[in-house]
Amino acid sequence: MRKTKILCTLGPATESPEAIASLIKAGADVIRINMSHAAHDWVGKVYQNVRTAAEGAGREVSVLMDLTGPSIRTGDLETPWQLKPGDLVEFRTVPESQPTIGYSVTVNYPELALDLKRGDLINVDGGMIQLRVTEVGPQRVVGEVTTKGEMKSRRHINLPGVPVRLPPLTAKDYADLDLGVKLGVDYFALSFAREPAHLQHLQLLLDQKGSKARVIAKVENQQALDNLDALVMASGGIMVARGDLGSECPIEDLPIIQRNIVERCSYHGRKVIVATQMLESMIENPVPTRAEVTDIFNAVIEQVDCVMLSGETSVGRYPDGCVEVLDRVITRIEQRYPSGRFASDAPLKTNKHKMVKASIVLANSIQGSKLIVFTLRGVVAHLLAHQRPEFAPIFAFTPNLHVSRALTTARGVHPFVMEFPEGKPELTIDNALAILREKGLIKPGDPLVILSDALYHETNVDAILLREA
Ligand code: PEP
Repeated sequence: MRKTKILCTLGPATESPEAIASLIKAGADVIRINMSHAAHDWVGKVYQNVRTAAEGAGREVSVLMDLTGPSIRTGDLETPWQLKPGDLVEFRTVPESQPTIGYSVTVNYPELALDLKRGDLINVDGGMIQLRVTEVGPQRVVGEVTTKGEMKSRRHINLPGVPVRLPPLTAKDYADLDLGVKLGVDYFALSFAREPAHLQHLQLLLDQKGSKARVIAKVENQQALDNLDALVMASGGIMVARGDLGSECPIEDLPIIQRNIVERCSYHGRKVIVATQMLESMIENPVPTRAEVTDIFNAVIEQVDCVMLSGETSVGRYPDGCVEVLDRVITRIEQRYPSGRFASDAPLKTNKHKMVKASIVLANSIQGSKLIVFTLRGVVAHLLAHQRPEFAPIFAFTPNLHVSRALTTARGVHPFVMEFPEGKPELTIDNALAILREKGLIKPGDPLVILSDALYHETNVDAILLREA
């Protein structure tokens, strides 16, 4: 029973009902819809396909809508440019302005010339082309190419280490958000989250619209790293967006940044998703590289909640193969290193935290034990996941569908929706055990550590029970 969850991005390779069903069958726990490449009617269709496929598979799968956020992009070029070191490129912030040199392109960010100064770096297309700023005018910036590359239309621009004044959300994001709320997606990821206020703004908007979704902050640049603790605390979790981080920060810092983000999430009890290039080579090839398998090992031993596939499942040739490889590699590593590598130093803030800790100590000390939690809002189940039990899986029962879907992102949690018969805790437990028995998840004699602040809530009793299946 794999603990680390698998998040898959949908795209042309996986948009059909059959392809989605097959991803879920292979082990996808969370489905990501990347709004940078998605039209609204397409989203509506694939969303329904995910819900139908999850129902068919008999397990919960959550949907994460990844909002594009503000990004700096170049305008259109008539033909691609072959750039070489020493070439000068002009970026114009006013669309109507005239080029002053040969290589000249517009950008969609009016403040570019206010944010940059001579000597700053400009990375185009994920760092495929790098330039150093040589001149800053009122409405233009000129950069000298330092690495050769082909420049095409509408390329993404990163400004490493430069604090930018982009708004948290664009008009497109607001429209996408309304669609996501209408459909009932479980998570919204905010690209280029830089300030806790950005996340609070989005969460408030969702609450006001009646959505139960939580916000995941995509950490993509130095500004976000400078505010990391505040971002972690203001979010439901963090996505380590290694694609943009690798362009915005020195590449040699990337593993250190990943480790640091995981530690801060562990400290604050928030989820962490490691994203991008987990199995990049499998976009084209049926087997992973040795380095990719070792990268997965690193994320699993760090005990992250989820690992994410992007192009591998959205446009790749072997989407199910990628999920199967992740499933196999993760399972092997978790068996070998059940307690991971890094102990959490998170403080046990409340009595609930301490109760959860006690149940984990119990479960860790009883071979073959399983944790079962009854939860109304998901709080105790999330606390259990954050404190990372060793072998024991966590079976979480809740009467609330959105709580159960939200728990699909939590490490080690297998959620189930079930009514809690009013005032009958023993019957609730029996019903849950019947479900687990029927699914072959427990067998007679299994030691069960049962934990709840919901079963006896009429009498306000929190309980840890130890019994056999
Ligand atoms: C990333 O940059 O790693 C990432 C996940 O963001 P996106 O795919 O939206 O660029």
